[in-house]
Parts: sequence; structure tokens; C-alpha cells
Amino acid sequence: MGSFTTHRLRAYDRTRSPVQRFVALRTCIAEFAPYGFKATYHHLCRSAGIPAEPEMDSEAVVRAVEELHAAREIWLAEFRVWQVHRHAQKAAGVRVPDPPEPRRRLWYPDPESHPAEPLTVVMPRILRAPAGDLAECPVCATGRGTKFWHDGFTEHLLCAGCGVSLAGRPTVPPPGVETARAERWRLVWRRRV
Ligand SMILES: [Zn+2]
Repeated sequence: MGSFTTHRLRAYDRTRSPVQRFVALRTCIAEFAPYGFKATYHHLCRSAGIPAEPEMDSEAVVRAVEELHAAREIWLAEFRVWQVHRHAQKAAGVRVPDPPEPRRRLWYPDPESHPAEPLTVVMPRILRAPAGDLAECPVCATGRGTKFWHDGFTEHLLCAGCGVSLAGRPTVPPPGVETARAERWRLVWRRRV
């Protein structure tokens, strides 16, 4: 049984403490994170309403893990079809996959900037996003423009609509940005914001 499946069951397991169940959810996110770990973590804590103290609502973890699981199932179904197709292509000597492997994630550098819709709504758009660097946002239906965001190491060009990374380049961080971002992430991590 895969790690995601194992830890999903642990998130359900009422014989475990709420904190242990919450840790199991985090392991699931480390395995499958459509927005990258931090933004997926932030999204699920918000959408499932996970309180700062997991003991206050131990079933919130189940809501979060189910939303993630449903998105993973969408990816998995598409991936398995692609895999069969790809196997036949390889047998026929086709070296470059056509169509390309369905994507399982897009990169959202700002943990607090990602689509507000359920993961199951966004996942089909992620699957179909083109491989490599994105020239335009595959999530927002119409171009919403771009904005810059600095994580303390890299300046990212993000979609102004949903926050997906369109390009990144290492730059010298402006003074204080790195510390401010790290402090902000500590608040997200503890579900204080
Ligand atoms: Zn967008």
C-alpha cells in the first residue's frame, strides 16, 4: 500500500490522537500537493476549517484528507489511461510521449495565494496544463495579468488571478523580506492566520 493510502487511513483512525491524525494529513500533502506543499497545506487548512488546536475539531482532518484524496483520484484516473497509451507508444517506438504526461501539480510559491475553489474543480485544469514553463495561466479562464512576489530568495512572476508561478529568477532579496516571509509561514503552519 502506498504512503498516501496508508496515511489517509491514519487520518481517519479515531484510535489515534488528533495531533497524530493531523500529522498523517501532512504526510499525505507531502505525497500529493497540487499547488506545492505550502499552498496546498494552506488551502486544505482553510477549506476544511482545521483549528489551530486539532483537538478542537478532530474530524476537520478527515474533510481535508478527503478533498485531497478526491483530487488525487482525478489525477490517478487520467495518469493510468495515459500510462496504458504510453506503453503502446513505447512498444511502437514512439520516443516522445504524445500527449505529454498529465501534470500532477502547478507551482504556487506564495502559500496564501492559490485558487479558492475546491481542488477537484482545479485539478482537471492542472492535468491539462502544458509541460515546462508556463507562458500564461492554465487555471484562470481569462488572463488576469501578472504580479511579482518575492519569497526572500527568488522573485516570482505570478498570475495575478490565482497566484500560479509563470516564471522565477533568483535575485538578491530586498532587506527584511526573507525574515518576513519566514515569520508569515510560521503563522500559516500553526493555522494562526
Ligand atoms: Zn491564474
